[in-house]
Amino acid sequence: MLRGTMQDRPLTIAALLEHGQRIHGGSEVVTCEGEGVRRARFGEVGERAERLAAGLSRLGVRAGDRVGTFCWNAQEHLEAYLAVPSMGAVLHTLNVRLFPEQLTYVINHGEDRIILVDDSLVPILARVARELRTVEHYVVIGSGDPAPLGLHALRYDALLAAEQPGYAWPALDEQAAAAMCYTSGTTGNPKGVVYTHRSTFLHSLAASSGSVFALSDHDRILLIVPMFHANAWGLPYAGWLVGADLLMPGRFLQAEPLCRLIATERPTMSGAVPTIWSDILRHAETHPIDLSSLRLVACGGSAVPRSLIERFQERHGVRIVQAWGMTETSPLAAIAVRPKGRPPEEEMEWRAKTGRVVPGVELRLVDEAGRVLPWDGETAGEIEVRGPWVTAAYYRDDAPEKFDQGWLRTGDVGTVDARGFIQITDRAKDVIKSGGEWISSVELENQLMAHPDVLEAAVVGVPDPRWGERPLACVVLRPGVHSTDETVPKLQAFLAARVARWWVPERWSVIDEVPKTSVGKFDKKFLRARYAEGALRVIGPLTPA
Ligand code: ADP
Repeated sequence: MLRGTMQDRPLTIAALLEHGQRIHGGSEVVTCEGEGVRRARFGEVGERAERLAAGLSRLGVRAGDRVGTFCWNAQEHLEAYLAVPSMGAVLHTLNVRLFPEQLTYVINHGEDRIILVDDSLVPILARVARELRTVEHYVVIGSGDPAPLGLHALRYDALLAAEQPGYAWPALDEQAAAAMCYTSGTTGNPKGVVYTHRSTFLHSLAASSGSVFALSDHDRILLIVPMFHANAWGLPYAGWLVGADLLMPGRFLQAEPLCRLIATERPTMSGAVPTIWSDILRHAETHPIDLSSLRLVACGGSAVPRSLIERFQERHGVRIVQAWGMTETSPLAAIAVRPKGRPPEEEMEWRAKTGRVVPGVELRLVDEAGRVLPWDGETAGEIEVRGPWVTAAYYRDDAPEKFDQGWLRTGDVGTVDARGFIQITDRAKDVIKSGGEWISSVELENQLMAHPDVLEAAVVGVPDPRWGERPLACVVLRPGVHSTDETVPKLQAFLAARVARWWVPERWSVIDEVPKTSVGKFDKKFLRARYAEGALRVIGPLTPA
């Protein structure tokens, strides 16, 4: 081999931190505090990260130690994102919506020594504090009461006030652990993914690149997706690196305060799961809102209904772009933008797809026997990915069934076309197999949510004596629309005009709300269980007219 002549500088979070702090010291972090906002420049945030690292060292945090965060999106959470990995420790972002048993499991399994916690979340963390075996200190952010956490609670501001800026970041191996995040574990215990400095650095470059979000210091990014969910899609690091202003909504995640923040702080870019955007759309029906500053809204985490993308475009001129990824892929793996050579009339068609694989991620499609399938846009199989920001294992958790000869099995089933555009039809565990053929719950939901009477729709497979399985459609009607004898036949007819006739569900349930997981996805496991227990009021089987 002829060696190249290039320098081998490690790709670390400290390098990313220093670049943003020095080159974009004047960019700002804005944190919503309900009525008002709090502002800080990157220069100041960088110095506070240095003081946080000094404070954590004083508390005994050493290289490789896990420091948890139990926080909403706010300036201090960003300081932890920057300081903890840069000092050689490992940032463990904890999902504040986990059930107590799962929260206890991930903290004990990750062996967090310190947890930084927002004062508003102290009561929730206090409920499990006695079960936590490795936590030595809690550091409470804000002026709220730390007492429920007991004697080991310190104050974040006091920790920083006792230190000077100018912490000397240690030299680190780019393959060292930087951060960890557990998947929400819909089956079995949550599984931990450990990001490296290198994977985070490369993912940040990819996220800001022109073919993904095209981020720069002209942007103001509203970070709605929680920083405890797959690194807020990498936006905090990517935004910091390029000097985009970062707008943090804190715990004010309802449509009304979000719209207010958008109108006053004028973000150019934002990211959130579809439920948040549908809440905003509904809010806009009865309140004047101003979304004109947004050039790009990334949406993903679950399938984005085409009707949502279209309504935002038509009513507010806002461009929603669908992205696909998972905790295991840092998370960005695909994004749906209209490719070169396709006419503008097809815009919605392309944006409604799951996405085209991003540069840096490789993809393949395999069948149940592990055979590689063609990219013809029709043959469906499981999607497998690999790449420098895709996990190769889970933290202290052997899961050989999740990997296939160096590829990660995503558990997502779909098709890929010749251009690398993915269309996910289901998660493997949610697929509906009727008479041996797949019915896409994602497609049925997508179509149902385009009906003017339907607010939300979740379709799950239920046992059927004749076909093995058939779809059950659970629908939430819009406020003011009431279920009548006509509702189901009407929705069946609507679907029959849009999907294969044999896909149209015979069983229906009108529910008040679709149950959601801790990261805001439809909880289909719960719906299936409710059906099995006979706890859902089911209309049908009704043969479609
Ligand atoms: P969890 O696995 O805990 O739900 P993740 O956020 O890591 O948490 O979930 C990743 C999964 O979310 C993907 O495997 C896929 O099933 C789903 N997903 C993400 N984005 C999309 C999308 N645009 N369309 C359909 N499904 C998506």
